[in-house]
Amino acid sequence: MKSVFFSRFFILLPWVLIVIIMIDIDSKRAIRAPTAGRTVRAQRSPRSGSPGAGGAQNQSSLPIIYAITPTYSRPVQKAELTRLAHAFRQVPRLHWIVVEDSTSRTDLVTRFLARCGVPYTHLHVFTPRRFKRAGMPRATEQRNAALAWLRQHRGRRDSGVVFFADDDNTYSLELFAEMRSTRGVSIWPVGFVGGRSYERPLVSGGKVVGWYTGWRPDRTFATDMAGFAVNLQVILANPRALFKRRGSQPGMQESDFLKQITKVSELEPKANNCTRVLVWHTRTEKPHLANEPKLKKDTVDIEV
Ligand code: UDP
Ligand code: MN
Repeated sequence: MKSVFFSRFFILLPWVLIVIIMIDIDSKRAIRAPTAGRTVRAQRSPRSGSPGAGGAQNQSSLPIIYAITPTYSRPVQKAELTRLAHAFRQVPRLHWIVVEDSTSRTDLVTRFLARCGVPYTHLHVFTPRRFKRAGMPRATEQRNAALAWLRQHRGRRDSGVVFFADDDNTYSLELFAEMRSTRGVSIWPVGFVGGRSYERPLVSGGKVVGWYTGWRPDRTFATDMAGFAVNLQVILANPRALFKRRGSQPGMQESDFLKQITKVSELEPKANNCTRVLVWHTRTEKPHLANEPKLKKDTVDIEV
């Protein structure tokens, strides 16, 4: 009887040990997974720098990033601005200059900005109808209005970096850390522009030597609006530098503007010598609203 018991015990023992080891390995995996998730959040928080965080004193010496966003009324406007605010709110010392393409400040954008949690200036200027045609550059008047505001309200003693942040892009938080050190004009890759998955400046020996692009490689500066930043003092030192309508071909706004303030050889490559994509021209699909006019309107008026 005893020998039967022992023989069964020794047959079962290795299997019991295998099961115990398997359970142990599995539980270790389960513990490790959320830890990895937390590590990512923990790394992100110092950069986000909530105002009360320990770095507040250091932050006050950071140059302010002036993000200039032209925007116009359309079904996805509030959704686009919401996505931008979620990123901008996490960037220390960012001042959002929102310029509406409208005859006055709209209620929607006014209400949105009041609650967005980002320091901001709200401007507006209407694009003349004759310029609202396919193939015409967009938001020229709005970007110029923001530049005029900076020239009027900021001076020689203010340190800052100016960046053109269209409302249809997606911005990595790392991008703002990169552009913060812009001394003259900095430059980096942009995703989903130029008919390619990305467009980027080619860098050799720390200098821009050419452009990787799918469209008009003959542009002096083959970059997108979201692909560069300018030190505030450069904007102030070149008071006549503006986005042009006259003589500017479609898609040449960026190059024509940069020609007025810098040279290719002076550009400061960011994002690891322009090898990382930290901003994407995502664009939002136009929502399908064909059923709206056919159906009875809601009994309450809801802002979308
Ligand atoms: N925009 C504007 N008025 C317009 C069209 C566009 O203010 O009539 C803004 C738009 O909200 C965005 C920027 O200008 O922030 C660039 O517009 P869009 O993305 O349509 O141009 P694209 O990227 O195709 O040049
Ligand atoms: Mn766009």
